[in-house]
Amino acid sequence: MIKDPETGETALQPVDDERRTTRVVTDAEIERLVELGRRVEDHYGEPQDVEWALVEGELFMLQSRPITTISEADDATTTSEEPAEQPAANGGQTDPQQSTATEVDAEAETEDGVLVRGVSASPGTASGEVRLITKLDHLDQVTEGDVLVSTMTTPDMVPAMQRAAAIVTDEGGMTSHSAIVSREMGVPAIVGTRTATDVLEPGQQVTVDGEMGTVTEGGPEEDESEADEYDPVESVRPQTPVKPMTATEVKVNLSIPEAAERAAATGADGVGLLRMEHMVISLGKTPEQYIADHGENAFIDELVDGVRTVAEAFYPRPVRARTLDAPTDEFRDLQGGSDEPHEHNPMLGYRGIRRSLDKPTPFRCELRAFKRLFDAGYDNVELMLPLVNDAEDVERAKRLMEDVGINPEKSRWGVMIETPASALLIEEIAAEGIDFVSFGTNDLTQYTLAVDRNNEHVVDRFDELHPGVLSLIDSTIETCRELGVDTSICGQAASKSEMVDFLVEQGISSISANIDAVRDVQHEVKRVEQKLLLDSVR
Ligand code: PEP
Ligand code: MG
Repeated sequence: MIKDPETGETALQPVDDERRTTRVVTDAEIERLVELGRRVEDHYGEPQDVEWALVEGELFMLQSRPITTISEADDATTTSEEPAEQPAANGGQTDPQQSTATEVDAEAETEDGVLVRGVSASPGTASGEVRLITKLDHLDQVTEGDVLVSTMTTPDMVPAMQRAAAIVTDEGGMTSHSAIVSREMGVPAIVGTRTATDVLEPGQQVTVDGEMGTVTEGGPEEDESEADEYDPVESVRPQTPVKPMTATEVKVNLSIPEAAERAAATGADGVGLLRMEHMVISLGKTPEQYIADHGENAFIDELVDGVRTVAEAFYPRPVRARTLDAPTDEFRDLQGGSDEPHEHNPMLGYRGIRRSLDKPTPFRCELRAFKRLFDAGYDNVELMLPLVNDAEDVERAKRLMEDVGINPEKSRWGVMIETPASALLIEEIAAEGIDFVSFGTNDLTQYTLAVDRNNEHVVDRFDELHPGVLSLIDSTIETCRELGVDTSICGQAASKSEMVDFLVEQGISSISANIDAVRDVQHEVKRVEQKLLLDSVR
């Protein structure tokens, strides 16, 4: 809204595209606002609802009145130690030193019936009865329409997650298993609440708002018509019938083959990442145990079935399937999981290509599954290796590929760039003959910044747009362009418009986003491409 220079009246004016997503208040200004809020509260002796304005760097207080939504009783349950994004409205401890602003928010939300709050992992709103899952053998307690509440979800919970109306977990961030799978299934989810399993009672009727990241007491509002309910198919249906044509390919990520049709309906140019671990772990046994009980062929059959479902849904669009990359803690609760090593930090441990090279029997089975698919004519299937560090990792994996009869010259294959080492050593890695690399920014960020991607205590430090991460991506794209190797991204950051802008400007070949983000990414890519073209003409 601006003041019309002619009439002096208030007028509406569209904001430039670029400025719509730009932050408008600086850190220093926020600090001054906090200071103002404290002064006003001290003056009146109680928390205030303050209106303010910033004019050419000068801060004005326009109005102040006591906050009316706080009751005396709530003062006793003040939350203190939670960050502002995730206040636990119930059960928090009182810390008199804590900033008043945070307390006020938490209390107001308690009034509104917010029981817990966390990271919005998958959009949509749903109501149902709480089912608290503490042990895997409790999974069948989750029936159609229940709200699944758990410390953390694991891939073997997928069938129960599919039945659930909504999912709430104590742990995890945007790139945790619960967040990834629930987005794919179109089930509303909130992760990293810290307190859900303590605060929510079994059988309690709650409403989960995946957008706001809140769980409130009770069912849907009376006036909420059925038409307002979240429809997962509708949510991916293109809003405009014509898909934006882009030179940079826009693909989709997939973990559960059951979501293949949903993913294909987005009009994506292919699958940029098909995670195989969810197919494996849903078997309920570690790969070693499954092979011991049922034989290698049965294991290969399962993998072939899973990848084929996706390859068929997308044919002839390419499907980049990634060999197994599950940390040991995700195997632990499966049959055979007691043989898994106990690791201090599984994210830094026995996973990805290092496990595959160390335990070649299951890895060979995975490679034989690819060989079968290639032989059956699925020439749209591509093979991707996770968590490689250097050319030696790639060379050893390539030898195993050749051992099972895959011709690396004829089939398309490549690697994930998920460690700083792999980005720094890209030239040597490319010399192994890869066709593509794909940035796994979930891991690349955690390993570059030393921030555990699943640790809700450092969630605000997990920044995929950190200059350190961008610099590794930038130099890798540049080298790959010189060497004729395709570049892609398949981490969660591919759904962020700032990342899309950066990558398209650097000349990335494709971007692979989550199902729910594909259409937005297509539009964003088109916008940046057109801007680049205009700039070059001008
Ligand atoms: C990544 O690390 O960004 C990635 C896509 O792989 P995953 O999330 O499966 O580790
Ligand atoms: Mg990864």
